[in-house]
Amino acid sequence: PEAFLSVRDLRVRFSTEDGIVKAVDGLSFDVERGKTLGIVGESGSGKSVTNLTVLGLHNRKTTDIQGEIILDGQELNSAPEREMEKLRGNKAAMIFQDPLTALSPYYTVGRQLSEPFMKHRGASKKEARDRAIEMLTKVGIPQPQTRFDDYPHQFSGGMRQRAMIAMALMCDPELLIADEPTTALDVTVQAQILDLLKDLQQEFGSAIIFITHDLGVIANMADDLLVMYAGRAVERGTVREVLQTPSHPYTWGLLSSMPRLTGDIDEELVPIPGSPPSLLNPPSGCPFNPRCAYSGHVADSLCTTERPPLAPGRAAACHLTAGQKQTIFVNEIKPR
Ligand code: SF4
Ligand code: MG
Repeated sequence: PEAFLSVRDLRVRFSTEDGIVKAVDGLSFDVERGKTLGIVGESGSGKSVTNLTVLGLHNRKTTDIQGEIILDGQELNSAPEREMEKLRGNKAAMIFQDPLTALSPYYTVGRQLSEPFMKHRGASKKEARDRAIEMLTKVGIPQPQTRFDDYPHQFSGGMRQRAMIAMALMCDPELLIADEPTTALDVTVQAQILDLLKDLQQEFGSAIIFITHDLGVIANMADDLLVMYAGRAVERGTVREVLQTPSHPYTWGLLSSMPRLTGDIDEELVPIPGSPPSLLNPPSGCPFNPRCAYSGHVADSLCTTERPPLAPGRAAACHLTAGQKQTIFVNEIKPR
């Protein structure tokens, strides 16, 4: 089936005082209707930047974007801002990690929920108010009729988070991008919100991109998984494939933070030493090579000279197959 969202060879660059930052460097992925794509990776891996770019929320003056972003047949990278305004909060919406990114301090929460609904749906003030109160109720805000007239600063952090989620869901978006949506919330509310997102998907066949570093949440929410490192995708597959038979050394490192995983290599996992590379001056070859235990065992210094491609479908961007890494591990890394 044709993907609802298709991103092809996306490159995002910012100019800074110190030079050009390659925040996203040749990224491709698809999301189908009714499916959830999980994106995991450390901070600075390009997950958030990618998704801001999809919705045109980057700074157009300082950001250079190459590649294609096709949503339901419409190319967005070249779309004018007024087209993006029609899309955002309507057909596509985003839930941010920090609610103050989305909520203005100057208007009441109710007004901020209602106005996009009136604008995009041609709803009356009364209809928009009813809808907003319905959504505030759904995300678990007590006394929504009263809270409708409050300003964001009158909400607690967790309540603001929920109000922002309610705002994103007002127009039943067909594409929802959720960037660490429940990080600030307690476990019970988190579960409610995740259920709400699943309901939205069931009812409207929405496509969801779910960005998180919580692999437990990903295992429960996503159909497919993309692992990002240094602005690139390093591993891709169904959630089951990637979590049960991870193949990229970076993914192995990430999974060591998820103790309930049981697999063949589970016992051998070690945390990843070092930190992500500078995107001003990324390492040549495989961006993971400075941190990779296998790099020194690969013939012809391939890891430091050639960028490993990511094949379509289930794949890892590594010069070694999983079997080769297993052999190297057993013969050369483990004995030390
Ligand atoms: Fe490690 Fe080389 Fe594979 Fe990169 S290509 S993950 S450095 S073995
Ligand atoms: Mg982020």
